[in-house]
Formats: sequence, C-alpha cells, structure tokens
Amino acid sequence: MTSPFSPARIVVLSGGVGGARFLQGLLHHHASPGTAAAAPEVTVVANTADDIWLHGLKVCPDLDTVMYTLGGGIDAERGWGRTDETWHAKEELEAYGVEPTWFGLGDRDLATHLVRTQMLEAGYPLSAVTAALCQRWQPGVTLLPMTDDRVETHVAVDDATAPSGQRVVHFQEYWIRLRAEVPARAVVPVGIEESAPAPGVLEAIAAADVVLLPPSNPVVSVGTILGVPGIRDALRAASAPVVGLSPIVAGRHVRGMAAQMLAAIGVETSAAAVAEHYGARDRGGVLDGWLVDTADAAEVDRVRDAGIDVRAVPLMMTDEEATAAMVREAYAVAAARAVR
Ligand code: GDP
Ligand code: CA
Repeated sequence: MTSPFSPARIVVLSGGVGGARFLQGLLHHHASPGTAAAAPEVTVVANTADDIWLHGLKVCPDLDTVMYTLGGGIDAERGWGRTDETWHAKEELEAYGVEPTWFGLGDRDLATHLVRTQMLEAGYPLSAVTAALCQRWQPGVTLLPMTDDRVETHVAVDDATAPSGQRVVHFQEYWIRLRAEVPARAVVPVGIEESAPAPGVLEAIAAADVVLLPPSNPVVSVGTILGVPGIRDALRAASAPVVGLSPIVAGRHVRGMAAQMLAAIGVETSAAAVAEHYGARDRGGVLDGWLVDTADAAEVDRVRDAGIDVRAVPLMMTDEEATAAMVREAYAVAAARAVR
C-alpha cells in the first residue's frame, strides 16, 4: 500500500529503544519502492532527562540509542549500547570499588562519552556535540537533544530508614539498580523549568508537515520532552497534525517501565488513558490523532470522546516492515486531519 500522505518534513519526539525502533520503521517506509521520490527531512527531538554523569562522563542514553540504532551500531539483542561490546573498563572500575557499578558502561560506548564530555568541557552545547557524533554515525535524521540544559529525572521511592519515609534516586538507578520493581511515588524532572529547547527544536516543529509521538514512554520520554518550556506550546501551535502511537498494548507496556511511571503520575495503564493524558489539541492538549493496538479496539470510543481521531491497528514493532505499516496508519490519520 502506498500512503497518499507524503510529508516532506517530519518531527518525531523520541525516547530510547521504543522511539529508535519506530524511527527504523519510519525510514524503512520512506526507503520502500513506491514511496514518494524525495526522502523527507526527519528531525528527531530526543529525551535527555535520562542523562547521567558517571565517572566524570556525560552519558546520554536516549540520544545514543537513537544514534546507534539508526547508524547501525546498536546491539540489537539488548536494544541499547554497542555491537561487539566488551566491558573491561567497567570491570576495572569495579575492582577499584568505584560506584556506581550497576550502570552498563561498555568499552566501545565509553569512547562516545569521552568525546562528548571533552567537547562539552570545551564549551560546545550538547546539540553541537550530538551533531558531531552523528557525523560518524550518519543516522539519516537530524538528531536534536530536547534541550542543551541539564535536566535529570529523579524518582521517589519508599525507604523506611529515611526520616520522610522516602528517598529520591536518579531515574537510571530506579530503572537499572532497582529494576523498577518498587513503586515510584513521584517522578521529578529536575531542572526542567529552567531549561530551554535546543536550537532548531521549535523551528522544526513549526515547519513540520506531521509531528509523530512514537510509542515512547509517555512520562519519562515524551513527557519530559513536552515539559521543556516552549515545546508543548509549539506542538499546540503547529500547523501540522500531531499523531501518537500507544506504548500500552492490552493494558501493559510492551517493554520498559511505563506502567510504573504512569502509576506515579496517577494515570491508568491503558491506551485510552495515555491518550486522555496527552489530550486533544482542540481541548488544550497536544494530540490530533492516536493509534491503539487492535487488542485495545474496545477503547476507541473513549479516545474519540476525548476529541482525538483514533484507529485500532497492529502496534507491535516486531520488524521494520510491521513498524513501517504503523507509520502508514499514522499518516492515514494525519492525512484525514490535514485536509480539514
Ligand atoms: P526507552 O527510553 O529506552 O525506555 O524507550 P522509549 O521511551 O522510546 O520507549 C519505551 C516504550 O516503548 C515502552 O513504554 C514500551 O511500552 C514501548 N514499546 C516498546 N516496544 C513496543 C512495541 O513493539 N509496540 C508498542 N506499541 N510499544 C512498544
Ligand atoms: Ca529512556
């Protein structure tokens, strides 16, 4: 099937693994025979609130997952980090007893963090550093951090030994060391109020023919991107349709910890509840359209009642072709909106 809607400028707000897989499908769709002749300009605005400083190095997991995935350097089985990775530096750090030991810092991956940190310390903003790293990886998209400012998500968890009964850990510690196995009581993107969109972010959204919210985590990936002052308003003001895809299928996240994050902000883990949480653009939210999985077809009316155009289609990113089909469905929803 050839999509009748062929946007020339596409903006995608992405987290790590879910966003990167979606982008693979999107590029696959546009590379397919029969798709519009000119390749579109794809701008990816990536979450940077997962970033963490480790052993003096700035690590940007979501930016790197997108860059490595689209650049052919990702360990496809793990979904993060480099192919053909070794862990000698991590073992040596552990032998020195240097904390934290729970973060997976591979030897090949370390080179990326060394280059990034060196450039940041020389005064380059993260957006310029990211562009420099992409010179090597050629991801086929313009990869922008959501902001050049430091924003780091922290999670409050129960701790009986703390006077308040709670303790706050970095998002990476919650996810990797605690394996998201304890309830998250609050999610706080530290620094977000003082942050500003990275250069090019607002311009790309304003110039877009379509804005896509991939099935990334609605709280700690897309949620933090929308939390950067100015980005939500840019989406609301965009002339392009904004279409999202549900990361929740049959009442569960497909992978990751979206359910724990949604619980922390008081949103039920369902495709319809996530759509309501984003909200319809003409009712103060950010969405024009939403795709739910066929398993959630019963939720279609609820999404429509929220003022959002909706379709129930297969949403499992099993391979690039299946993901490309999801992109075409998103375009079909966008096309219907664009002609209104
Ligand atoms: P992270 O930063 O690595 O956690 O990745 P993202 O935030 O970009 O994406 C994580 C989200 O992707 C999780 O909430 C998953 O539920 C969702 N996800 C992963 N694989 C699939 C899939 O095949 N289909 C759908 N609909 N969602 C998926
Ligand atoms: Ca992430």
